[in-house]
Amino acid sequence: MIIRARVVVTMDGPPIENGAVVVARNRFVEVGTFPQIAKNHSREEIVDLGDHALLPGLINAHCHLDYTCLRGTIPRPKSFPDWIRAINDKKAKLSADDYIQSIKDGFAEAKRYGTTTIANLTAFPELVSRIESPIRTWWFAELIDVRDPTRSAELVDQAVDFLKSQEHWGLAPHAPFTASENLYRCCEQIAMDRNVLLTTHLAESHEEMEMFREAKGQLFHFLTKIGRSMTDCGTRTPVGEFLERTRAIEGNRPYLAVHLNELTGTDLERLAEFRQSFSVVHCPRSHKYFGHSAFHFQTLGELGFNVCLGTDSLASNDDLSLFAEMRAFQKEFPGITPEKILEMVTVNPARALDQGSELGKIRRGFVADMIAVPIERSTSVFEQILSFNQPVRWSTIEGRISA
Ligand SMILES: [Zn+2]
Repeated sequence: MIIRARVVVTMDGPPIENGAVVVARNRFVEVGTFPQIAKNHSREEIVDLGDHALLPGLINAHCHLDYTCLRGTIPRPKSFPDWIRAINDKKAKLSADDYIQSIKDGFAEAKRYGTTTIANLTAFPELVSRIESPIRTWWFAELIDVRDPTRSAELVDQAVDFLKSQEHWGLAPHAPFTASENLYRCCEQIAMDRNVLLTTHLAESHEEMEMFREAKGQLFHFLTKIGRSMTDCGTRTPVGEFLERTRAIEGNRPYLAVHLNELTGTDLERLAEFRQSFSVVHCPRSHKYFGHSAFHFQTLGELGFNVCLGTDSLASNDDLSLFAEMRAFQKEFPGITPEKILEMVTVNPARALDQGSELGKIRRGFVADMIAVPIERSTSVFEQILSFNQPVRWSTIEGRISA
């Protein structure tokens, strides 16, 4: 099958005007200009998309579809612990069926906005077998043992049992303030043994920095009250604490570190040692909702980190559109080119998911995940892609068209 469009944005070199791709089974077998492709494949069926840009399907590097049903229910909180309290209250009222519906609705919405691959954290790995995902999904079991750190190994083993039959899965020790040192270590061990990915929330809020570095503040008091041992507080920063727990990272397991808003100069230096295996996920709209400290995009980029974008959950965001996420990032960092921003939802997250030679580009041999976006002019195609704010009407996942 030949798919032709006014421009093919490969993310693998300059956009190709009057471009086309050839798809056989689930992969691209050729990418080029339409005349050249038509000549080489004269018997192939042609799908002509006309005035559209064809680009790789988008990849959401961080979300929690569990909470799709909480959209608009939590007003902007005064503090991060206030938000945790609010979401815990909402969660207490939800049933397993509510979560399943929430995840299904989330998948449908993500797909509608052109996402073809998603890194989704779920606090309910036991429900995953009851859900069929319409897009490529990395299921990460979100693990919290703050109320009972003696159960960490058991928690991890259970999660592995629930997820191991999924095509792509991994583990997400939630954050250094809710997951114990032992939980982090168990996750690392599994990641090493089974060759799966890890993700964690790190240095998101100033309350977390206050808690770890100074043993004070609202998060410190909130967690003390629920019985967390606070002996790891009062010396290190959140990143310092994370590195302390995961120095067994020698195997250099890829890690998707989400947020990284609160960083000291020393944190950045120490993290930089791991830049090859460590990707950073920024969630621009969730970041704005909480009013976190400015994201260190420039410095992280200069240090060579792979930076990706994610939507986070709808308990702190309006929708699951990565186009809207790119626009929010552009407002935050107007000096960054639209092309670089598009990389953060294609090439960069593909690399973060250890799929840098499979996903994120339209390139011969890569998996045929594509979306089409209408284009009005032939100039500034990247800018037009970023401003697209409608549902995506044509996409392929593994070469299969949904229109
Ligand atoms: Zn998150």
